[in-house]
Amino acid sequence: MAAKILIIEDESALVVLLRYNLEAEGHEVSAAMTGEEAKLLLDEEKPDLVILDWMLPGMSGIEICRQIRARPETRDIPVIMLTARGEEGDRIRGLATGADDYVVKPFSVAELMARVKAILRRAAPERVADVITIADITLDRAAHRVVRHGRQVRLGPTEYRLLLVLMESAGRVLSRSQLLDGVWGRDGDVDERTVDVHVGRLRKALIRGNEADMIRTVRGAGYMFETREPADQERA
Ligand code: CA
Repeated sequence: MAAKILIIEDESALVVLLRYNLEAEGHEVSAAMTGEEAKLLLDEEKPDLVILDWMLPGMSGIEICRQIRARPETRDIPVIMLTARGEEGDRIRGLATGADDYVVKPFSVAELMARVKAILRRAAPERVADVITIADITLDRAAHRVVRHGRQVRLGPTEYRLLLVLMESAGRVLSRSQLLDGVWGRDGDVDERTVDVHVGRLRKALIRGNEADMIRTVRGAGYMFETREPADQERA
């Protein structure tokens, strides 16, 4: 399980608590105290899920949710709204604004974690499943095994991690620096060209005969794992 989760909440003790619990589940967490900060983070990198507090200084949670829903780039991000208000009218208003779920404070962390898991399972199943299958390639996270067309693909640890990161974000272009962060970690002292070298090795390990190249090179941007097998004429 490795989803990117953005918490928008001004109560720092709650942010610390949620961050701790979400990171323990393997998620990558970023946090904003205000709507303005949240906007900057949303522009930087699209999260898989937003946990949004209703009561914030400045722009309210409702307004932020409305803005998330109004922009095509963020429209489909699931939002869980946190609030102290338990009134039925407020609940309906929250859901009408486009929140996917609604948790009333005070809530138990276990309850919120269960909601997070349920929403991710629905919205981003590849983030929570043990097994990811795209076209004829299956990656089993629990067994650390990759199979293509029934044959086991042998990968070094770096190529395995690279494939995992690419498949988790299938259909999205990842820049070389995002891949560096995801595969080597932020502290890694690795050149961006290293990414190209390892993508080359990964392709070589994955492709036999006339099997499709599922990793698309996007000029000037990075790499993208295809969500389905590219048609013959599209193959390089
Ligand atoms: Ca608050």
